[in-house]
Amino acid sequence: MLETTDQRLRQRELLLRVSRAITAQLDLTSVLDLVIDVAVDLLAGTAGLIALPDGTGTLQVHSAQGLPRESWPAFRALLSTPLDNPRSIGQRLQDVAATIRLPLRQVIALPLVFRQTRVGVLYVFRAALNVAFTNEEQELLKAFADQAAIAVSNARLYQSVLHDKLQLDALIEQSADGVMILDSRWRITTFNRAMELLTGWPRDEAIGRPCAEVLAITSSQGTNICLVDCPLQRRPPQMNPIVEGWIESRDGRRLYVQSRYAAQRGPAGEFLGAIANVRDITEQQIEAEMQNTFISVISHELKTPVSIIKGYAETLAREDATWDAATLRDGLNVIAEEADRLAAQIQGLLDASRLQAGGQRLELTDWALPPLAAQVVERSAAGAGERFSFELRFADDFPAVHADYERTRQVLENLVTNAVKYSPEGGRIRVAGRATAEQAIISVTDQGIGIPPEEQSKLFRRFYRVDNRLRRETQGAGLGLFLARAIVEAQGGRIWVESQAGRGSRFSFTVPLATPQLPDMGDAGQTAIDTQQPITEAVAPLGSDRQITVDEMSTNDVRTQR
Ligand code: ADP
Repeated sequence: MLETTDQRLRQRELLLRVSRAITAQLDLTSVLDLVIDVAVDLLAGTAGLIALPDGTGTLQVHSAQGLPRESWPAFRALLSTPLDNPRSIGQRLQDVAATIRLPLRQVIALPLVFRQTRVGVLYVFRAALNVAFTNEEQELLKAFADQAAIAVSNARLYQSVLHDKLQLDALIEQSADGVMILDSRWRITTFNRAMELLTGWPRDEAIGRPCAEVLAITSSQGTNICLVDCPLQRRPPQMNPIVEGWIESRDGRRLYVQSRYAAQRGPAGEFLGAIANVRDITEQQIEAEMQNTFISVISHELKTPVSIIKGYAETLAREDATWDAATLRDGLNVIAEEADRLAAQIQGLLDASRLQAGGQRLELTDWALPPLAAQVVERSAAGAGERFSFELRFADDFPAVHADYERTRQVLENLVTNAVKYSPEGGRIRVAGRATAEQAIISVTDQGIGIPPEEQSKLFRRFYRVDNRLRRETQGAGLGLFLARAIVEAQGGRIWVESQAGRGSRFSFTVPLATPQLPDMGDAGQTAIDTQQPITEAVAPLGSDRQITVDEMSTNDVRTQR
């Protein structure tokens, strides 16, 4: 009697432990370890195991007591034996015991069933030969198994929810778009890595803050759209509002972003939270703005020569006036010049669109660069006016290049024309060449208005013109450098600028050599001006008394002093 009471107390205590495990433990392995410990203990067994079905429904050992892990595979045949066939189970147990050399002689196996689903099977083994499991013990284990089944299925559910959540977290984290999740008070609860990169806000600081503070999207007029017209507070509420505008990242970058929201609302339409998908569309926006600029620039650039031609033609054609030969010739010259300009503009546009479509063909041949440079310089010098002096610096043995002659002329002409155009005070313009082992580096240096650092990387974009006084005074469509870059890069070279606002600019580009030079032939570059010298040293500022004499130059330097 005393023993029965004791036993019952112990069993109750064990069942209580399992119940606690059900509510307290959500980690599957811990639950399984606890369940098998209790089951073996409850039935005074020698060993035991819990097997759970895998994806294909095959039972696999997940936790065991008194059985070394290496022995688990030996139970495969036992696990596949139907539970309603105790004789086969007994037989399989003998095989397993012999394989793993453990005295397992009695077995009791019970399915763990929760809501009509078998979530696993519990096996308890005994070593003693003559102590079989009683019906009472079977009943006890059954009661326990019901509890254990709940614990196991809870833990499995939790595990799968956790797995889904981790997967979702990883997905959000790795998304190329910025993703943030907002709570019902528009405060940030999730902030992915792309969002950190986009806004410059570290996640730890962003979480908990109102989204309008971290992602302050402003209109072109500078109004914070998120504050004055929060897309998630519009009436009537929109399910998937979109906002576009500028943001300034914490590290000072200005980006144009598109933010799409998916709002979650309660039955009365109240706001419960939202997920925002934020994309950097600065490039597209710049492209769109360029298209607008393009229309206005093109209409201006093309219209100007057309109206000049029309004006001159109409004037010269007037029947009520007679023109002397000189006036007539001057007028016709203007018409011819403007027609050339128009043709050049149209050619530029065609080149630009051909380049964009990838249809530029190059004729690569071997030729000498210095004569071409001399030609370009002489032509520019002839039309530049007295405020300019031109220098040409190439070593006598400058190696032949392998490039498209006409296209390279176009690049050089553009750089020299720009040097003149953007030097309103005049000054010295130097075209210099240097050769390394594989390439020639050509540079055009001026003492003009220079380019502020923040503009320098943008110059080579299509239709880009620096916004300054000269922009309005000089003609240009912002295509020259775009075309120059496309040509240079198509030839396998690169083009870059070094400049100081107010002091001058140096544009350099590389051209492949016809035959790569032996190392000691790199001397060619050292006799010419070092194109890597700082601009201020390469070209003395205006008014400075530093003059380059003819002696300093190599023999074929051309100096056109006007
Ligand atoms: P365009 O001269 O027709 O405007 P480009 O593509 O040749 O177009 O040049 C783009 C812009 O780069 C120019 O509008 C000008 O603002 C700037 N730029 C080019 N060359 C120089 C230079 N040598 N000095 C100063 N600014 C320059």
